[in-house]
Amino acid sequence: MKLNKATELIRLRIALIIGACLVLGFTVADVLLLPSSMYSLYFFDRLLLQLPIIAVVVVFSFWHRFAQCKQFLFTGLLVALTYSNYWLIWSCWHEFQFAFPYEGTILYAFFCVFALGIPFKLAVAANTINILGFLALMWFAPVYGDRVAISIAFVCGSLFICAYAKYRLDRSVSMLKESNDRLLKLSKYDPLSDLLNRRALRELSVKLLALSKRHKVSMAVLMLDLDDFKKYNDNFGHQQGDDAIKLQADIMRSVFKRDTDILGRYGGEEFIVVLSDITKQQVAVHCDALLDKWKQKNVVHADGAKHPTMSCSIGAVIASDLRDITIDKLIDKADQALYVAKEKGKARTELVTYER
Ligand code: GH3
Ligand code: MG
Ligand code: MG
Repeated sequence: MKLNKATELIRLRIALIIGACLVLGFTVADVLLLPSSMYSLYFFDRLLLQLPIIAVVVVFSFWHRFAQCKQFLFTGLLVALTYSNYWLIWSCWHEFQFAFPYEGTILYAFFCVFALGIPFKLAVAANTINILGFLALMWFAPVYGDRVAISIAFVCGSLFICAYAKYRLDRSVSMLKESNDRLLKLSKYDPLSDLLNRRALRELSVKLLALSKRHKVSMAVLMLDLDDFKKYNDNFGHQQGDDAIKLQADIMRSVFKRDTDILGRYGGEEFIVVLSDITKQQVAVHCDALLDKWKQKNVVHADGAKHPTMSCSIGAVIASDLRDITIDKLIDKADQALYVAKEKGKARTELVTYER
């Protein structure tokens, strides 16, 4: 499933709001732990530092360039929240000799890295900055007394696990994406010729026809078939026959280069090209170019073939008024024209105008 950008943005805003709610939830829990004399310090940190920091990122999410910068903003958010927590730990100790817990540091890291999706390298950068900050804090303010060493070990270990888990997750996701892309390609493309397979060819052609109808432009369908291919296979073997199919595909790609041109393998040694917004004369020029390329390749044909070098025949139909026309009707006409091209001696084009 492809998440669209708007849905992704909403998901991120919800995650930020959940983060803010968690901060509020912890505030209630912390209030039960803290002596009332520390309330003002504590509320200042939670309500006037941390929540506004999250609110700033929410505001940034409405910025038109947010999508490009969000990873850096979330990394900044993680560092800012963590250091505001360090400030609270330091202030509680400095002013009240109270050992405020450090666990928030770990929660912020896991939340920002996994819920907001900070990528691996930035997660390493943020966690390193935060570990260094914690070491400095413990150096200047050994808040946890004889538990300083174990606290450092917990913070370092947890942030390392967080970054490593992100590395494994990112890697699995990219492998999954790669295999997904491969499967998608396999389902759309013919592996021998690397042209669209019959199903994808049909689907795209139907779409192109609908678009051409809407924009009231012409459409042409070409059916191409290698000449005396059975003889070629019998004479030179199936492997060399496969090479000729690949060559046909390469020639087609070198002639039909517009983004909207649809090229596919229809069957064994039959190919289809679908073109939109094109004149009859342009179709003829392209077909001639294709036949010329086969001549230039000068691939020796089998004994008994109609022509001494490998060639193909083309049946083409062009329709300028597309009302009531279906893709099947156009393919049918192109097929009939191909039959005529074969009858007339092969290695040639039969180009007809679609008559209703
Ligand atoms: P024509 O000039 O009238 O088209 O004669 P032809 O021999 O080319 O036509 P026909 O359709 O009788 O033969 C097609 C041959 O294409 C038969 C089959 O062995 C061969 N063929 C189909 N698919 C493949 C393939 O993937 N690789 C190879 N090497 N040959 C194939
Ligand atoms: Mg054939
Ligand atoms: Mg043939």
